[in-house]
Amino acid sequence: MPEHAFTLRPRPTVPVEGDAPFPVRRILCVGRNYAAHRAEMGGDDRDPPFFFAKPADAIVPPGQDVPYPSATSDLHHEIELVVAMGPDGIFGYAVGVDLTRRDLQAAAKAKGQPWDAAKGFDHSAPISAIRKLATLGDAAISLSVNGEVRQKAQVGDMIWSVPEIVEEAGKLWDLQAGDLIFTGTPEGVAAVSKGDLVEGSVEGVGSLSFEIV
Ligand code: MN
Repeated sequence: MPEHAFTLRPRPTVPVEGDAPFPVRRILCVGRNYAAHRAEMGGDDRDPPFFFAKPADAIVPPGQDVPYPSATSDLHHEIELVVAMGPDGIFGYAVGVDLTRRDLQAAAKAKGQPWDAAKGFDHSAPISAIRKLATLGDAAISLSVNGEVRQKAQVGDMIWSVPEIVEEAGKLWDLQAGDLIFTGTPEGVAAVSKGDLVEGSVEGVGSLSFEIV
C-alpha cells in the first residue's frame, strides 16, 4: 500500500535571494501593531497587539496574481513586514500583504466570532522573495494601488518590535523553521477591486506587486 491514502499538494514555498526556496510551515499574524491603524479600526490605546493565523497554503508567491475572493465585497490590503524563521532563529525578512475580507471581519467582531473566514482564506497572503538578514533597523514601509500611495509608515512605529514579536509568539507556540510571522499593518488600509495593481515595499527588504484578477 502507498504511504498515504492520497497525495497532498506540495508544501508552499517562498523564493529566497541567493538560496534555495523557503518551505512554509505556518503563518502567524500580529493584529493592531501600529497605534494609528489600531485607532482607524476603532481600537483604543489600551488594546495590546495579539496574534491570529493563516494556513500555509494562503501564500501567493511573487509574480502570481490574486483572484478576488468569494463571499466579500470589501477586500482590504494590509502591507506588512514579514519575519521568516529558520533553524537558528530569524532567517530573513520579506514584504507581505495580509489580505482581509473586511466585511466578514466586522461581522465576526460584532458577534464575537473567530476571524478565520475574514483572514485565513485562499490566496490571502501574497509575499515577496525572502532576503536573508538577521536584523532589520527602522525602515520605510509603503503600499500603493494603481500608483497611488495608500499606506506609508516606518516599521520603527510598530508597538511590538520584531524581537518582542518573536518573544511573545514563543510564549504561545514552539516556533520552528518555516514559520512566517506577518508583523501588522500601519494606517491607510482600504479596499481593492478586480483589475487593481497592488505594489508594496519595505526599505532594505524588497518589494512585491500583484494584480487582483
Ligand atoms: Mn494585518
